[in-house]
Amino acid sequence: MSLIVQKFGGSSVANAERVFNVAKIVTDTYKKGNRVVVVVSAQGDTTDDLIEKANEINPNASKREKDMLLAAGEQISIALLAMAIEKLGYPVVSLLGWQAGFQTTSAYTSARIKRVRTDRIEKELDKKNIVIVAGFQGLNRYEDITTLGRGGSDTSAVAIAASMHADLCQIFTDVEGVYTADPRKVPTAKKLKTVSYDEMLELATLGAQVLNNRSVEMAKKYNIELEVLSSFTNTPGTIVKEAIKMEKMFISGVAKDTAVARISVVGVPDEPGLAFKMFSRLSAKNINVDIILQSIGRDGTKDISFTVAENNAKEAAKIMEEYIKAVGGKQVLLDEKVAKISVVGAGMESHAGVASKMFEALYDAHINIRMISTSEIKISVLIDEEDADAAVSAIHRKFFDMDN
Ligand code: ASP
Ligand code: MG
Repeated sequence: MSLIVQKFGGSSVANAERVFNVAKIVTDTYKKGNRVVVVVSAQGDTTDDLIEKANEINPNASKREKDMLLAAGEQISIALLAMAIEKLGYPVVSLLGWQAGFQTTSAYTSARIKRVRTDRIEKELDKKNIVIVAGFQGLNRYEDITTLGRGGSDTSAVAIAASMHADLCQIFTDVEGVYTADPRKVPTAKKLKTVSYDEMLELATLGAQVLNNRSVEMAKKYNIELEVLSSFTNTPGTIVKEAIKMEKMFISGVAKDTAVARISVVGVPDEPGLAFKMFSRLSAKNINVDIILQSIGRDGTKDISFTVAENNAKEAAKIMEEYIKAVGGKQVLLDEKVAKISVVGAGMESHAGVASKMFEALYDAHINIRMISTSEIKISVLIDEEDADAAVSAIHRKFFDMDN
């Protein structure tokens, strides 16, 4: 008898028909003699709708009250799913986050899970119940409802799987797995059978948007194997697990991130300590810098360019304006029409080979590279946003199509 955790995203439970579809998947798993814990998100766009409702009343509402409201979405979906399972004739119980033992930090709207006290879940499983748990929510030490941040129910599922040493944690969504590129944009994209935690983390931050990052970090920490699969088709998905030794030059995917911006600080004095002072101002405001490029000094000045997430761009540019006022410098340029394209692969042993292949693909497509960065498992380039889709296709073709 195995313990299986199954998580269903909002699109998988968006309406009555889909709720019954999920009930069928869950009860089929239960019928095979497994203990089943199910984590669900709010239906469809419910969470967005609740945020909109809050903004109508008071855009400056306290985070405590926002959490009180947002947690309601998952309360609806767990009850509806439990009702559907009852109707199919199986024993079931739905639990809110606090009933399922989710204890979190006190940070409303972005709480972190401290522990899951799983006694109640275990008791219900012993009674042969299917247990349905509200994702995305918990209770802090003031006994207030908290939420884990957008997309948090993946993390809820992994936390239960880790706490209960589950045999399998399945994340059901509306795509069939993790692909070598966005299948809606690149028709030849292939579904990956397996992908390592580290690759998945890169693909997630780079815009693959299949799994929430924190859930992958947690799965890695506790070595929980995840399966990402579709609730709409009955096909095996992608397994996310520890990297096994793979072939050389193995590339798992090409990812695109258009939510980046480039800031160039032009004509700052070419002297020691400048970069330090510049980036410490940004880190003091919790702004993460990604790719950094510094020009060769000339006439006692130099230029430093870097990328930040688009939602930090205006603030970062402002900080840089203040910075050049303080230390000297010509101007600050902000460009939001850029995109970061990355090739990710845990088996990327020879960077040189991968990089030259990637650059050749861009050259063939007449796409200009503005910045480059590399890490152990990825190579990223910054290009014009309008070239992003063409770049992904060209690079994907170069690495994955048979004729190359
Ligand atoms: N319902 C929450 C959200 O929309 C949590 C989740 O879907 O994972 O962000
Ligand atoms: Mg952009």
